[in-house]
Amino acid sequence: MSSQISVVKCDSYEPVLVEQRVRQVVDLLGGITSFIKPGSTVLVKPNLLMSKEPEYGITTHPEVVRAVIHILKEINCKIIIGDGPSIWGRFIENVDEVYEITGIKKLCQEEGVELVSFDKRRMRDKYPLTVWLDKCDHLVNLPKFKTHELTLLTGAIKNLFGLVSGTYKLELHKNNFAPPEFAKTLVDIYQDARPALTIIDGILALEGDGPATSGKARQLNLLLGGADCVALDTVMAKIMGIKPQEVLTTKEAARRGLGEGQLSKIKIQGEDIEKLEIKPFVLPITSVKINRLAGPLKNIVKPLLRYYPYSLRAKCTRCGHCVNVCPKKCITLKKRGIFVDYKQCIACFCCQEACPAAAIAVKKSILAKLIGL
Ligand code: SF4
Ligand code: SF4
Repeated sequence: MSSQISVVKCDSYEPVLVEQRVRQVVDLLGGITSFIKPGSTVLVKPNLLMSKEPEYGITTHPEVVRAVIHILKEINCKIIIGDGPSIWGRFIENVDEVYEITGIKKLCQEEGVELVSFDKRRMRDKYPLTVWLDKCDHLVNLPKFKTHELTLLTGAIKNLFGLVSGTYKLELHKNNFAPPEFAKTLVDIYQDARPALTIIDGILALEGDGPATSGKARQLNLLLGGADCVALDTVMAKIMGIKPQEVLTTKEAARRGLGEGQLSKIKIQGEDIEKLEIKPFVLPITSVKINRLAGPLKNIVKPLLRYYPYSLRAKCTRCGHCVNVCPKKCITLKKRGIFVDYKQCIACFCCQEACPAAAIAVKKSILAKLIGL
């Protein structure tokens, strides 16, 4: 696999401009046939985390998906589009609403391509991944450029978690809730799915307490592309102002030899990222800061440095999405809003990720506050 990636500027979602820049991303790497066989069947997987319009910066913009569709059509590919949004919780039928509001349904109608649900699955190794992976020759991965409360960033590797069929995502969260274990799960999925091409939509990115409504949209004006998801996440971390090895999925995938995790060994076509002068991203406040503490101190105080979801009742619409996605079933919906049983909570922040109203914040333990985390 080549650890060559491309970085291209694009300052709006104006359709003609996006298509031109997405083509540039691909052409800088040798053109679409370097990744995809003409006439093949291709599964395209954007990030459709929840039912929010593209302007929130949470989901892959339909114009980026459209540009990829046009490029694939030119080499006579059959295109299938789908994702497994987190909002599913226990209710698979909600995916239709996500497709509608994110603009993907309309796009697929306009472009005449098939839009599918990931409700049927097959066990691949130890994970139930969508059967559409088996029905397609290639996977094209279209993540969004965002911070993530649990994994620090969500880009090329993390986006593949949506290949896990429906409700089983909650099981994986429940059984692998510590960040290093969850990172291994994500890398296992990457190892299995291995997208042929990844293009990251970083035109409107998300910073702060991502990946959903608690994060803040930020105009970044970049598109990144390549086949090596480890290299892409490494460069993405650098652009965000994070040391790439702080991202546990990058570290684990590089350790397994699944891609290039050393910035100096990645060939970047297009923009010189050192000259972009991007202000560091505002990071999520949870595990990153704990992990940055010096070794011995971290081991002593770590058990006391806890973060919990905290309900902002004035914002809560009592929609119940958080209740549905909580893998520990420790959220109760009452008249005044939600109540969390903190004895059961594993701090996975699925509730925050699923909340459409930004009504779940992060509460720190007293020690975390005292030492300024
Ligand atoms: S309350 Fe939120 S953070 Fe706690 S286990 Fe449930 S979904 Fe995860
Ligand atoms: S906290 Fe958010 S997800 Fe939970 S019920 Fe309130 S608005 Fe819905």
